[in-house]
Amino acid sequence: MARTAGVLVVQHIAAGLVDKDQIAGPLRMFPEKSDSHDALLAMPADAIAAKIAEVVSASAGSQPLAAVGVGFPGIIREGRVEESPNLQQVKGFRLQQALESLLSTGAGHVAVRIYNDADATAAGIAATRGVLHTLNRVWTLGNGVGFGRYPWAEGTWEGGHSVVTLDPKEQFCGCGGRGHLEGFLGYRAMRMRFLDLEPEEVFANAKAGEQRCAEFVSRCHRALAAATATSIHMDGPGPFYLTGPNAKWIDVGKLDRLVHEMVKMSPLQGSRIEMIPPNDELGIIGAAVNARHATAVS
Ligand SMILES: [Zn+2]
Repeated sequence: MARTAGVLVVQHIAAGLVDKDQIAGPLRMFPEKSDSHDALLAMPADAIAAKIAEVVSASAGSQPLAAVGVGFPGIIREGRVEESPNLQQVKGFRLQQALESLLSTGAGHVAVRIYNDADATAAGIAATRGVLHTLNRVWTLGNGVGFGRYPWAEGTWEGGHSVVTLDPKEQFCGCGGRGHLEGFLGYRAMRMRFLDLEPEEVFANAKAGEQRCAEFVSRCHRALAAATATSIHMDGPGPFYLTGPNAKWIDVGKLDRLVHEMVKMSPLQGSRIEMIPPNDELGIIGAAVNARHATAVS
């Protein structure tokens, strides 16, 4: 039987076969063993595509693939990467087309679908919790700030670039825009703000009561609460999940209180926020689930 594979591209590439909303077989990674944050930064777009195809083929082994879903950071439209602030060389690249031609060999056509990485993670959370019928939103906190949503819906959904302050001095976002959420909580933005401290030290100092760091951490929480409240005001209440390597710095109880201060209309009550430890599998499962649904109807 032809199988579905899922891929998540973040600071590395991870892929696996997915069956019944679960990983079915070993995960394959590139780089295989490394905490490297920049393995993909220097690779040209077509080399990244070739590497994704290689990792997918290794995870499929001899089994034929019907569909492959890929979660990729950036704005994705119709299989093309329209913008990817953290992998700029891929901007404009037709990733779906490239992967379909690399993967469709003698064995037949393999349908590939590309999604925003946070959307893939949202789908994976919804699938593994059996809540594919409800609206699920996810913030991924890493180098950038990703916003994902399931069910997948046509749109841009760049929630990480929500404007959360009118202060013109707030200009640390990777996209260059002023006042953005990622300008507070993106790892790269924090390094630019605190030239003398690493983000890990900023959060440790805040815990120890150092005033400058504690004020910043408090503003980070207000910024994330503001973007969450905006999403609730635009799209309604529901669960929000926090994940990614830097989600551990967020105090969920504090965030929840701030969101409730910012959202007061009674039909919009009832959102909740939950931390999910960073996990490639959710994005892999979600990309595969989305691709399977998309290719079953088209
Ligand atoms: Zn931005």
